[in-house]
Amino acid sequence: MLFPKICACCSCQLADEESTLCEFCKYDRFELTDSCISGTTEEILPEHIEFRMSLWQFDKGGYLQDLMHRLKYEHLYGLGVDFGFELGKVLRRKAGQNGWLFCYQPLLVPVPLHRKKERQRGYNQAFAICEGVSGVTGWAILSERKLYRKRNTRTQTGLAFEERRKNISGVFEIIGVDFLPYEMPIIIDDVYTTGATVMELAQTLRESGAERIGIATLAEA
Ligand SMILES: [Zn+2]
Repeated sequence: MLFPKICACCSCQLADEESTLCEFCKYDRFELTDSCISGTTEEILPEHIEFRMSLWQFDKGGYLQDLMHRLKYEHLYGLGVDFGFELGKVLRRKAGQNGWLFCYQPLLVPVPLHRKKERQRGYNQAFAICEGVSGVTGWAILSERKLYRKRNTRTQTGLAFEERRKNISGVFEIIGVDFLPYEMPIIIDDVYTTGATVMELAQTLRESGAERIGIATLAEA
């Protein structure tokens, strides 16, 4: 017996061509961020960060928060890939607007989970998002075997920026990667909060020769 497919967000019945979200939830339910609409953020970024963007504004207590939570803990690989498609479309447009595809070869870098956490959850949601982005853009994904978390850090939730920075300092290790000057790693994650995690990862990538780094997330708090 076949069960009808339902939207992971609003539970309405999906059309044949829809996979995890209905058209309304995908395109109209969530608020796009300024960085997605205009392509820039107000914040001052470190010099080595080429750009930072998020697709949607995080809605505390809302549908998007619930979906992000389930993406992390319910092994919704297909949802991660679908979200990645949407992020990939915006990134591709952005790359064309800013002209950096003429200068750089993007390489997608999913924020790694600690092995233990990845085993518990069954997958890394950032990797699923990368698969979607790659499916749209054709950009390669950095091998998961080359980048990992050395420590299983306690949750960043509830910590102020400075505490988060200390909690995450020195946590990433990259092996056997030397970025060439024209390669631009783009860090991919689900939610951007204070940026402590992605900035720490950017620092690790710099130590392997990356000169310009991009940051793209599904949502920002
Ligand atoms: Zn829906």
